[in-house]
Amino acid sequence: MRLFCSFFIFVASVWAEPVDWVWSARYVITMDAGRRVIENGGVAIRGERIVAVGPQSEIDHNFQPRQRLDRPDALISPGLINTHTHAAMVLLRGIADDLRLQDWLEKYIFPAEARNVTPDFVRWGTRLACLEMLLSGTTTFTDMYYFEDLVAETAKECGMRGVLGETIIGFPSPDAKTPADALRFTEKFLERFHGDPLITAAVAPHAIYTNSDETLQQCRALANRFSAPLLIHLSETRRENEEALAKRAKTPTAALDALGIFNGRTLAAHAVWTDDADLRILRERRVGIAHCPSSNMKLASGAAPVTKMLALGLLVGLGPDGAAGSNNDLNMFEEMDLASKLQKVITGDPQVLPARQAVEMATIGGARALGLDKEIGSLEVGKRADVITVRLERPNAVPLYDVYSHMVYALKGPDTRDVMVNGRLVVRDAQPLTIDARQVMAKAEALALKVRESLKPAVTMQ
Ligand SMILES: [Zn+2]
Repeated sequence: MRLFCSFFIFVASVWAEPVDWVWSARYVITMDAGRRVIENGGVAIRGERIVAVGPQSEIDHNFQPRQRLDRPDALISPGLINTHTHAAMVLLRGIADDLRLQDWLEKYIFPAEARNVTPDFVRWGTRLACLEMLLSGTTTFTDMYYFEDLVAETAKECGMRGVLGETIIGFPSPDAKTPADALRFTEKFLERFHGDPLITAAVAPHAIYTNSDETLQQCRALANRFSAPLLIHLSETRRENEEALAKRAKTPTAALDALGIFNGRTLAAHAVWTDDADLRILRERRVGIAHCPSSNMKLASGAAPVTKMLALGLLVGLGPDGAAGSNNDLNMFEEMDLASKLQKVITGDPQVLPARQAVEMATIGGARALGLDKEIGSLEVGKRADVITVRLERPNAVPLYDVYSHMVYALKGPDTRDVMVNGRLVVRDAQPLTIDARQVMAKAEALALKVRESLKPAVTMQ
């Protein structure tokens, strides 16, 4: 009998396929086509990719891992996907709140950026943002800012996935005097990061109202030359729409479509003031939408017609937008929660945007909006290993009847326990492995002193 058992163990271990990792947990939320949730599930990972997802007993039987992560009191989920932010703006977090968008931008953000946004600011700001995002379960972020090559270097150093585009805007920016300079920068950026396993280089004209039609068309042509996504703000405020209608007799969506800007991979942030005709255009052109509920609510921009968008089959993801005054954090759990509740408020129907749909928007939906759904967004064989665990043993998670309900309405960003991006463990037991948190936060405080100083009027009242 003993001989038989040893033989069996020997055969099993010979048959068991070597892998780098096996992760197991009380639940695995796969977000695959069947939306399987596996109780006592496991995920096997080799190199950068997932090789199996299934019941833990099956995974343990079939695979021999070099390392294990067993979390019987947690759930495993695909890493969350942020489809719109301005990461380094975390260094301006809370600089001015409770203002109209135009006042906030013109009196605080633009002057603070003009005086402070340097390579050093962007590197440390992006490090702080990556730290905050990883510790709250985000594995991919979509960014529009300045010195975007440094954002890409920093994301790679932190081990985070990024869809990144240098902001192209019709006035002098911290690192480009003209849109032509920003376009030249973008072309080099696209060449440099082409084929990178973590970075998807994008072309990012700020918006229709801050760029000439010619610049917008040059952006589209450049993006298509590299099969890169184009990132743009769209119909964020009522004022943007009114101006477009007055100037062009078209909504921003119709105007951009007439210019050919949607002829290729596109991700549009906000799309708050979009009517039925706009939504038809966005669907036909397969434009991804980054819905940013916190930002839209805080700046009183309005509420995007997300329920309609989803019913029409538009590709909608979620984003926190910038952390400076339009949010002020980068927490995707909060965006799921608010996305769901905001739709209920504006439609008067508690059945719209149910929890599972909110989780879809933060995972596979976001991946689709970015055109990356073959690589990320769900836990499926062959996909990149972007995986998180979330604690289920804290008071806010007990008891548990439905994992989607918990993800959206009960769990919070800091409940994230472990994070893997592209097969690399970057957070273990809520401790960052790629970022020196203490150093980053000390540097952020030091840079904030400079920001504060730069905004002081020349003569202060006594
Ligand atoms: Zn934005």
